[in-house]
Amino acid sequence: MKPLHELTIAEIQLLLQQKQFSSREITGHFLDRIAQQNSIYNCYISVDNDGALNAADAADKAIATGANGPLLGVPFAHKDIFCTQGVKTTCGSKMLDNFIPPYDATVVAKMKAEGAVMLGKTNMDEFAMGSSNETSYFGSVKNPWDLETVPGGSSGGSAAAVAARLAPAATGTDTGGSIRQPAALCGITGLKPTYGRVSRYGMIAFASSLDQAGPMTRTAEDAAILLNSMSGFDAKDSTCTDIAVPDYTATLNQSIKGLKIGIPKEYFDERLDATMAATVQTALAELEKLGAILVDIELPNSALSVPAYYVIAPAEASSNLSRFDGVRYGYRCDNPKDLEDLYTRTRTEGFGEEVKRRILVGAYALSAGYYDAYYRKAQQVRRLIKQDFVSAFEKVDIIAGPTSPSPAFKFGEKGDDPVAMYLEDIYTIAVNLAGLPAMSLPAGTMNNMPVGLQLVGNYFAEQQLLNTAHQFQTVTDWHHQSPVTE
Ligand code: GLN
Repeated sequence: MKPLHELTIAEIQLLLQQKQFSSREITGHFLDRIAQQNSIYNCYISVDNDGALNAADAADKAIATGANGPLLGVPFAHKDIFCTQGVKTTCGSKMLDNFIPPYDATVVAKMKAEGAVMLGKTNMDEFAMGSSNETSYFGSVKNPWDLETVPGGSSGGSAAAVAARLAPAATGTDTGGSIRQPAALCGITGLKPTYGRVSRYGMIAFASSLDQAGPMTRTAEDAAILLNSMSGFDAKDSTCTDIAVPDYTATLNQSIKGLKIGIPKEYFDERLDATMAATVQTALAELEKLGAILVDIELPNSALSVPAYYVIAPAEASSNLSRFDGVRYGYRCDNPKDLEDLYTRTRTEGFGEEVKRRILVGAYALSAGYYDAYYRKAQQVRRLIKQDFVSAFEKVDIIAGPTSPSPAFKFGEKGDDPVAMYLEDIYTIAVNLAGLPAMSLPAGTMNNMPVGLQLVGNYFAEQQLLNTAHQFQTVTDWHHQSPVTE
């Protein structure tokens, strides 16, 4: 048998049922690895040793009485953006360094109900704002493929934990690319579902019209297993859609012969590095060999997605983050003179630089004098971007391209230039503005660093995305490559 940390969720589940090992054994194995190696990668903010072992014991008892379930006794990690009852939830910020939620996010509750075993909470950019994990109050995460490079962001802790085999799988959230881009940079599989597929209740809000939670796993099969558990209607989130959840694992083995895959010319223009483009083309050729038909398409408003996003997301963030005022929960400054001083110093001391930048930009864009010029304009552009996709999906089933413009970059490389950092999301952000589902799959390497292939699906077409991704993974083995030697 492979070492326990090399097993996928699907394999763990099978071997638990066959009693090859107990949940306590595999959970303990991951907790030991985390204890030994987390200081190398800094991918966990908190580790819940006792909680994990208790959950593992409960799962073992259930298995002994004949219970079965795809996540029963399976260890995994949650991004530290999900409220976990009794377990510190920081969102990567000093502002919430002392916050212990009194309730579970819906995603957390659902996975708990299935007997999944949470190992701990993963590091992330502060309030999910970033593409490199460098904005975390808890220090940046290291990319397991090269410790001098970033893991991507904002779900960089989850991506690095899965790549470093410090968790078989993790959850992430994606507002403009935060599941897909770190998945690409760390060589794992990540899925951002259709907006409304997964409840946002208890997931600390960044930009509410864009945020969506999803799985970060080694394989598409594991992503399907996790999505089965995470998805579904929730009365506690008014934007959650009441559409039946299919069994995402049931259709993975269908043939993709005849599947029409649109290749947007805007994603392969002269701005894309030639080696990167060639790597992605090679991956597309694999899909062609499986019977898919590549079709040239256009998404004419692509270039407007980053500017529109960087008005809309900060606008929503400035409103969402107004709740952190030192009164209700989280950080509070020492000895405030009066209420004004309490607000000002709490927020000055509690938020990091990038978060403050976003709040300022957002408040400005929403202000009476500039609302029409910026916020309304950005919403109009958003509509055009969505329309581009709707038109494209009249001709094709799936859209494919690179996930990010380059593989993982060095620490500090883009830190001083917010715009260079924002352009990291050039291929992912439009998908959030349109509310579509998309995946990133390990699809090759460039300079020995992982490269991601992005697949974008039509609304609620996660089944088709996962099926295509799984078929790709039956003929490639990029997703099995590991940076880990021990
Ligand atoms: N990198 C983007 C940003 O900084 C997206 C982040 C995200 O998806 N949470 O806003």
